Amino acid sequence: MNNEYDIVIIGGGVSGTALLYVLSMYTNVKRIALVEKYDKLAQVNSKHTNNSQTLHFGDIETNYTVEKAAKVSKAANLVKKYVETIGKKEPLYKKYHKMVLAVGEEEVVQLEKRYTEFKKLFPELKKVGRKELEKIEPKIVEGRDSSQALLALFSPNGYTINYGKLSESFVKHAKKTNKHIDVFLGKKVLQITKKKKGHDVQLKNKTLHAPAVAVTAGAHSLLFAKQLGYGLNYSVLPVSGRFYFAPQVLNGKVYTLQKPKLPFAAIHGDPDVMGPEKTRFGPIAKAMPLLERYNWWTFFDYLKTADFDLKTILSVFRITFDPILFKYMLKETIYELPLVGKYFYVKSVQKIIPTMRARDLMFAKGIGGIRPQVVNKDTKWLQMGTAKLTGDNILFNITPSPGASICLKNAEDDAKKLLEFLGKSFAFDEKRFKQDFT
Ligand SMILES: Cc1cc2nc3c(=O)[nH]c(=O)nc-3n(C[C@H](O)[C@H](O)[C@H](O)COP(=O)(O)OP(=O)(O)OC[C@H]3O[C@@H](n4cnc5c(N)ncnc54)[C@H](O)[C@@H]3O)c2cc1C
Repeated sequence: MNNEYDIVIIGGGVSGTALLYVLSMYTNVKRIALVEKYDKLAQVNSKHTNNSQTLHFGDIETNYTVEKAAKVSKAANLVKKYVETIGKKEPLYKKYHKMVLAVGEEEVVQLEKRYTEFKKLFPELKKVGRKELEKIEPKIVEGRDSSQALLALFSPNGYTINYGKLSESFVKHAKKTNKHIDVFLGKKVLQITKKKKGHDVQLKNKTLHAPAVAVTAGAHSLLFAKQLGYGLNYSVLPVSGRFYFAPQVLNGKVYTLQKPKLPFAAIHGDPDVMGPEKTRFGPIAKAMPLLERYNWWTFFDYLKTADFDLKTILSVFRITFDPILFKYMLKETIYELPLVGKYFYVKSVQKIIPTMRARDLMFAKGIGGIRPQVVNKDTKWLQMGTAKLTGDNILFNITPSPGASICLKNAEDDAKKLLEFLGKSFAFDEKRFKQDFT
């Protein structure tokens, strides 16, 4: 009985902890276990140093269509509501202004068009030109050729979130409920085994059992799925994201226009959630055969997850040798080179801050994470955004960007699915959820 739960959640990042929170607050599930392999919660992609800390709404992310932005914005609003109400006494976020900046005639035309399409969805978004930029973000204008066209879509409501602290907050509030909640830290899940009713989740000295299981283990979710025979048509392309620090040159978040085929690859400059004394530029994206950026043992997990059959090899070949992606990846690899990398990267930074000098940039050592981009072996191409796989009484979440921004929406959807697994006596308290989050 001790090891018997209604639901077991594997992975203590922002996805798993959000799910624990939603299940404990808005359902009648009584016994929940969360298992995390590290000694603390959120030590992988959800750690505040390892992601860009942005709450993505889709207003300044030019890779989103109106439909996608509407969906992401709805999901991000749940996190916004949480940090401003339930977690308001905790240091979970900082508010800065944010913008997407178009540089040069061609980009300005693109952004004007985007503004027309998006202004209904984001009424607080405002067009700002060179004069206003000079006041809001003077360093963007300083030293810039006066003939260069400039336009930004600006919003005063930019949220920088500490997703690590948010994960801790979810667990803290979940534990305040009258549910039986066990959080196992420093316990790696070694295997999941299908049983007649539900699954066994095997740890080193313990086996937990539950009729419903959620695997929210980031890139490792796909590995677990494959071991159980799910998601066999998927592979993974881990893309590491690293950063450079500069002294504070920006007052808020400044994104640039995303390039087609390269989701979230365009440079942006951000203040840190811990304080604005430095500006962080990035991400520098590089394909890496690891499921976790600083854990070299995950090379072997990558090999198992990527599953190099003919379809995977063809997919990897097609993606790697796509002319746009190939050129991009090559450039990004150069940016990470010790000593000389910043002399190449400074050119990208100068798009935002024309007066930036290479000597002002410092490679952010030990900072950055890995985005597990899902590869669809049938289309032999990347599948953008997060991915969800549903099995027999088990579900799996694979969460590249904007996984953290949509963690509560994901948790809501997953909670409902898990309740379906458990049967009719379990219910989701829709009314209370709406009350708290609307
Ligand atoms: C460079 C970069 C920038 C990003 N910027 C943003 C951004 O600005 N905004 C945004 O919304 N998203 C961003 N993302 C994406 C975001 O970080 C992720 O979507 C999010 O953190 C995923 O959370 P998660 O809980 O699903 O995964 P993770 O945070 O990776 O957590 C998975 C957990 O599972 C645990 N685990 C794995 N295997 C096992 C096992 N066998 N047993 C037990 N536990 C296990 C891990 O230890 C880990 O704690 C960024 C990502 C990167 C890499």
